[in-house]
Amino acid sequence: MTATLLIDGRCTACGACLATCPERALVRAPLRPGLLASLCTGCLACIEVCPRDAISEAGEGGEPGG
Ligand code: SF4
Ligand code: SF4
Repeated sequence: MTATLLIDGRCTACGACLATCPERALVRAPLRPGLLASLCTGCLACIEVCPRDAISEAGEGGEPGG
């Protein structure tokens, strides 16, 4: 399974998600991490670890929250 994640403007580029991703699907970028979607398994570990709640799932109908 692949997943698409959105990383929004709350991201402070702290790097916690980069260190957490077991697939190394998150890569360092100047503003906020980038996602290598083909590597992402949708485990959601990065969403759990983000202290800013800046990561969310995309492509599930676009409903926020839930
Ligand atoms: S854990 Fe959250 S705030 Fe930190 S770099 Fe990742 S998306 Fe940004
Ligand atoms: S959902 Fe899992 S595999 Fe995908 S980027 Fe986040 S930590 Fe990595």
